Amino acid sequence: MGRRAIGTLMLLATLSVIGVVVIQLLWLREASRYRSEQVELNQEQAIQLEKQFNDRVVIALTDVTEQILSITKDPSDLYDAVKQERPNYFAVTINDTLHPYLLESLLKKEFSRRNIQEDFEYGIYDCFTDSIVYGNYVAADSVNTDTVEHTRLQKLDKDGHYFGVYFPNRESTLWEEHQSAWTWIFPAVVTLIVFGFFAYSVWIILKQKKLSEMKNDFIGNMTHELKTPISTIALSSEVLSDPHIIEEPDRLREYAKIIRSENERLRIQVERVLQLSTLEKDTVDLKTESIDLHVVAQKVAEHFRIPLQERNATLQLDLQAEKAMVRGDRVHLTNALTNLVDNALKYGPDGSTIRLVTKNDTNELSISVIDRGIGIRKEDLKHIFERFYRVHTGNVHNVKGFGLGLHYVQHIAQAHGGRIQVSSEVDKGSTFTLTLPLARS
Ligand code: ADP
Repeated sequence: MGRRAIGTLMLLATLSVIGVVVIQLLWLREASRYRSEQVELNQEQAIQLEKQFNDRVVIALTDVTEQILSITKDPSDLYDAVKQERPNYFAVTINDTLHPYLLESLLKKEFSRRNIQEDFEYGIYDCFTDSIVYGNYVAADSVNTDTVEHTRLQKLDKDGHYFGVYFPNRESTLWEEHQSAWTWIFPAVVTLIVFGFFAYSVWIILKQKKLSEMKNDFIGNMTHELKTPISTIALSSEVLSDPHIIEEPDRLREYAKIIRSENERLRIQVERVLQLSTLEKDTVDLKTESIDLHVVAQKVAEHFRIPLQERNATLQLDLQAEKAMVRGDRVHLTNALTNLVDNALKYGPDGSTIRLVTKNDTNELSISVIDRGIGIRKEDLKHIFERFYRVHTGNVHNVKGFGLGLHYVQHIAQAHGGRIQVSSEVDKGSTFTLTLPLARS
């Protein structure tokens, strides 16, 4: 996706999200204004009436309970026995089971005394059977209630004996208050989720964009790095094809040397492309064998003979480990160690000494590459193992890198059940330590 297309997409997406949020806010404001203007008065009244009704019911039920306690000669305290559990649903805690006829007649009596002329349902909960064991529907205007089904009385989440009274025909304004809160909370939550998805998509797109830019940089750099040795080799071979060159053996040797070293550069670059293709896969195909890492270290040191000479630098091998056998892939481990030494040379001054130290810890072998180079700042240390990450000052000595080397080392270390660690101080130097499990003898 092109830079402009991404920009347009982001702009459109941002505008639509802003639009949704603005519409939502306007709608909310309108809704609340409408409610406050049109409904507020009626609602206030309805709430007042409902509160009064609820109070009357509570008093009536308290009286009912008092009478039950006096009939059953129970000395218990009445405090807090009556509770409104839900809109129009009241529950009364009692100490024992209760005869439904007694309850029904008491309820009817107290409700009519308090002028509560509403249909109601009641039910008695029995904690032994964990159910409403008896219930009835009592209509306000008729005695015969057999035709009415009473299905609404629900069991409450409550311990002990209690009976419940429900007024099925009453509307609850207080409850509608609750519901109206939900009518705006729900869309707000949905908008938030949509917004979250949008932010996540933007984050993914930006990440992909950065990765694709880095890949393009990589291809650009790599093409440049491949072109230079190819043209140098072409030039040198042209010189060598001159028949008179045989008369100048020093020049001939010189050009042969150039071809060899440029060829080596090409080999390293091709190796890098191969490393990149390894990184594209989630798992590395390891050709595992028993490897003496001291031998690998010596081979790597041998590889670096010419580059070290060119920079007037030395590589000191300090192979202290008594056990150096590991199980692993020779090519990948050699590449990983090569990357570490290559960096030490790249990011160090001319004429410096790089140390390569091996040590044993319990069942592990660590191999450290220690340099006295430019070092790495703390804030960069966190990122240097990320794919394509390069420190801005990374292009020292005109050596271009791709930000892949350390990522590859980490990938390989993990594939071998090992790890790579770094400690570094700016202008003092860095120590990269590759730790691998020892082969079981
Ligand atoms: P590259 O060297 O190709 O840029 P790497 O993944 O090997 O990529 O390294 C990432 C970055 O870490 C480099 O750009 C460099 O800034 C920093 N770095 C790596 N090794 C060293 C080192 N030995 N000394 C200082 N900086 C280093």
